[in-house]
Amino acid sequence: MRNTMQDVPLLLSRILAHGSTVHGRSQVSTWTGGGEPRRRSFAEIGRRAAQLAHALGELGVREGEPTATLMWNTVEHVEAYFAIPSSGAVLHTLNLRLPVGQLEFIVNHAADRVILVNGSLLPLLAPLLPRLESVEHLVVVGEGDTSVLDGCRSQVHEYETLIADRPTTYDWPQLDERHPAAMCYTSGTTGDPKGVVYSHRSVYLHSMQVNMAESFALTDHDVSMPIVPMFHVNAWGLPHAAFMTGIGMLLTDRFLQPAAIAEMVERERPTHAAAVPTIWQGLLAELAANKRDISSLRTVVIGGSACPPSLMRAFQEQHGVALVQAWGMTEMSPLGTIALPPGGLTEDEEWTYRVTQGRFPASVEARLVGPSGEVMPWDGESAGELEVRGPWIAAAYFGGAGEEPMRPEDKFHDGWLRTGDVGTISPDGYLTLTDRSKDVIKSGGEWISSMELENHLMAHPEVAEAAVVAVPDERWGERPLATVVLKPDATADYAALRAFLADRVPRWQIPERWAVIESVPKTSVGKFDKKVIRRQYADGDLD
Ligand code: ADP
Repeated sequence: MRNTMQDVPLLLSRILAHGSTVHGRSQVSTWTGGGEPRRRSFAEIGRRAAQLAHALGELGVREGEPTATLMWNTVEHVEAYFAIPSSGAVLHTLNLRLPVGQLEFIVNHAADRVILVNGSLLPLLAPLLPRLESVEHLVVVGEGDTSVLDGCRSQVHEYETLIADRPTTYDWPQLDERHPAAMCYTSGTTGDPKGVVYSHRSVYLHSMQVNMAESFALTDHDVSMPIVPMFHVNAWGLPHAAFMTGIGMLLTDRFLQPAAIAEMVERERPTHAAAVPTIWQGLLAELAANKRDISSLRTVVIGGSACPPSLMRAFQEQHGVALVQAWGMTEMSPLGTIALPPGGLTEDEEWTYRVTQGRFPASVEARLVGPSGEVMPWDGESAGELEVRGPWIAAAYFGGAGEEPMRPEDKFHDGWLRTGDVGTISPDGYLTLTDRSKDVIKSGGEWISSMELENHLMAHPEVAEAAVVAVPDERWGERPLATVVLKPDATADYAALRAFLADRVPRWQIPERWAVIESVPKTSVGKFDKKVIRRQYADGDLD
């Protein structure tokens, strides 16, 4: 027997067409730094995306070719998000916080010919241009000092002039749903950055998952504020999800200071937001110092690194805002799990689920693999490295223009992605991570979870941030070094912090080495940069 269903490809042009008609009245508001935000309806974005696609076609952009953006979260970035893939090209979002050497590697590796760049970022891009051999066209979006481009080889265009007077409709091609739609490079904590290429199908299915009630549960009654940059794994799928269901969006542009975020929330009243924990740590401190009304926020999705339970409790108790933890990776589009508790529980029972990394959706299959390759049970106790597979999970890395994809054994095997994350899974499918495999502290044959020590330390009322790393130790192999950022006016000393930990973890896990630091070094996407911490503070003070 054969199935009798239509075989319609899952394409981003369909999401764009739907969002810009059925949800044509929904809006993207882009913060301008204090005055009235720039507001644009989905209908208008649909028309301008068509204009942009015509313009890029004229610049010679072809199907399957990467077209890069070096942009903040703005409405023009949303236009590029849809125009580029819908026309058959590949949206390549560049991480503007990467060290310039990595940015150079990435543009050359992808062989980007066109870069859309915010005017405010020209000083970052201009010095790199002589080494970006493939780049032929720069499209400057918004104001900026274009004199820094004098003498550059590429042709320079102004975005509004480039798209003006073009047709506001486009006959989007009927692509194969497995056609590439977008690409992102990982931030390359070890070795060169690796490119992940998403397909129309993977983005489409991922967007549906993001919208499900068991995930972000958003509709056109909501306004979401993706503080997570649009160059960090597609802003976790929010722009695509928004055009599917009409979710309004509030975009931060380059205004990412806690005070600016607090003002945006008070004035624009979003119902939802998404960001890495460090942003919320900063916001909590800001709100303690300067009162703002953030009561419009219903949920905030937190991911990218472990969310300290103390931070969740503080937002819940002080501001009535639920921080919902999610776990994922660039290689996973990124959604892997989300920590909404099951139904029918008391509040206390719900907390035991909320502090986990969350539950797997149906399309993400997961297994834990032990040290000798055996698959471990989902019993909430047996720990192993997490492996995943599913329709929005990478099977390989981009090999470079004209090259075969790369499948390094340490990341891909038997059709599974090795996540490099270590943890347990409960019988009802909730993941609890204890560490990244490279951050686990191996002390005298036992494992110490750096994440657990950090979470306990950050629950101390005088600790603002804490990062724990392994340092070599003659007797035990490795021992934990705790680096802590104290709150202003804190009086706690190492002995007090040790005593605090002694009530919470076994004695042998308590660090002997400590360092009080000004701030925890962060990666380009705001995660604790343990490589740098290990290098800078390897010695620590012995308590
Ligand atoms: P990068 O490797 O550039 O940091 P990703 O953003 O893809 O790129 O990072 C994915 C990793 O981030 C995961 O493998 C995991 O170690 C960590 N991570 C993401 N979300 C969480 C979370 N909620 N809890 C703990 N770790 C997380």
